[in-house]
Amino acid sequence: MTIRIHNTATRQKETFEPIDPAGKGVGMYVCGPTVYDLIHIGNARPLVVFDVMARLLRKVYGKATYVRNITDVDDKINNRAVERGISIRELTDSTIVQFHADAAALGCNPPDVEPRATDHIPEMLEIIKRLIENGHAYAKDGHVLFDVPSWPDYGKFSGRDRDEQVAGARVEVAPYKKDPADFVLWKPSSGQEPGWESPWGYGRPGWHIECSAMSSKYLGETFDIHGGGLDLIFPHHQNEVAQSCCGNKGSDFARYWMHNGYLMSEGEKMSKSLGNFYTVRELLEEFPGEALRLVILKTHYRQPLDFSKDKCREAKAELDGFYRILQGAGETDAEPSPELLAALADDLNTPAALSVLHKIGDDAALLRASAAMLGLLQQDADVWFKGDAAAGGPEAGDIEALIAERAAAKKAKNFARADEIRDGLKAQGVILEDKPGGVTEWRRE
Ligand SMILES: [Zn+2]
Repeated sequence: MTIRIHNTATRQKETFEPIDPAGKGVGMYVCGPTVYDLIHIGNARPLVVFDVMARLLRKVYGKATYVRNITDVDDKINNRAVERGISIRELTDSTIVQFHADAAALGCNPPDVEPRATDHIPEMLEIIKRLIENGHAYAKDGHVLFDVPSWPDYGKFSGRDRDEQVAGARVEVAPYKKDPADFVLWKPSSGQEPGWESPWGYGRPGWHIECSAMSSKYLGETFDIHGGGLDLIFPHHQNEVAQSCCGNKGSDFARYWMHNGYLMSEGEKMSKSLGNFYTVRELLEEFPGEALRLVILKTHYRQPLDFSKDKCREAKAELDGFYRILQGAGETDAEPSPELLAALADDLNTPAALSVLHKIGDDAALLRASAAMLGLLQQDADVWFKGDAAAGGPEAGDIEALIAERAAAKKAKNFARADEIRDGLKAQGVILEDKPGGVTEWRRE
């Protein structure tokens, strides 16, 4: 099977030709979170999109290494730790725990390698040294800067001309810069700021250098796929390209670049003041993570996605329909639908893959095996309908107790009490269904 990818670097859809699929397998690097706060639904999009990509690569090539970093040194982290009066390590450790829980609730498998920036300072120092040696970086006043005019190809990847580069990076004219477009590889730390010893003084890395250092460590200097959100193309990915191509002579860095589109919320740009800023954590109180995942996959990854709570409700109902087909179907092994695989191989066309799922009908084994490629429909159907009260409904044990009380009330011909129990549960989103033989089953709405 051939995979086709829209490559941001060439701005066209290309046949994917991995470097060493039979040996090392396919390598994919995706920029991960800066861990100072809970992730929002916009952050969830690349998690879900590249999780599906990793599933596809594994299916087609058998072997893939998915690397997603954690940025745990950043000024936003320093500021938040000071605000909250906790140490940087306490803040980043607890945020990572929350991040992993949210990613799991969204049905994402953990990446194969999840390197933390602060564990890779020596690798960053190494590439900075090489950049200086190669004439592409210089040290000034405790800073090390990438010398943008030293590399004529700078700007080709992002398609930005020089004026846009300077404006887009919101770079300040600083006395230690030779050119306003030059960007920081290393900067001095003082006081409470985190820092490490370096040949240029005590300091900390700039943001971009960590991805150049960690991607080459785990995937090699030239690797297959680099992913991230559209907002990262400039300056972050442009600067990664510059650092890696100039620091690792002869390297092409990433051969294919995939970028997911922007996310809007309730029809507008997400912002706290508009009340449409949703953390994944708060959405999970209202909806199953699988419904959020389905909403994300209904839009092709390169298109803008308009997220809304109404769409989550619709997705929940759609999943109910699928799980009804799976209910009582038992476990049978099956291969995913070739038509669904072909849709995913065509630049990860998840909307087309979802329409294939709908066409499968009541072949439960084929449905489950095909949906696995999308990370959907992997729960037990009974667990899906009965849930675990995470959405704020009554606990399963309490529901069972009320059903027993209702059966006793009916036996005693106290139908008023029996109806009261049924209506009370309905008001809390629990539906009772009386089956032949006096058995009552229940499910959440
Ligand atoms: Zn990055």
